[in-house]
This record gives sequence, structure tokens and C-alpha cells, in this order.
Amino acid sequence: MPRIIISCPTTGAEVPTGHRTQDFDLAAVVEPRSFRCPVCHQIHAWRGVDARVEHAEMTAGATAAALTP
Ligand SMILES: [Zn+2]
Repeated sequence: MPRIIISCPTTGAEVPTGHRTQDFDLAAVVEPRSFRCPVCHQIHAWRGVDARVEHAEMTAGATAAALTP
């Protein structure tokens, strides 16, 4: 399963949230979720609108939809 990633607000790096696409429908994540950033080690909050899927898989129609702005 592809990972859900965000851009780290401190470093700008793309970092994994620790969640994968089977955990959430990104469009449904409207409440901020917190995680510890593996790059800068701070706690960041993210929502579905902030996140994207690491890479699309051929079979994942929902993933392709999640990549559409
Ligand atoms: Zn960070």
C-alpha cells in the first residue's frame, strides 16, 4: 500500500505520516492528525487536503483520485 505523505513545514521535505492508504480515505480526513516528523522530529498536524499519496499504483483507482487536486 502506498504511504500517505505531507510536506514538512519546517524543512519542506516530503515525509511519511506513518499511515498508508488503507488506513484513511484522504478526502475524509478533515480533522487534523498529528505525527512526529521523521525529518525534523517535531510534531506536525496534517489533514487530507495537506496530504498526498506517495505514488499511484496501477490497481488503485482511489489513489489516482486522491492525487487529483
Ligand atoms: Zn518536519
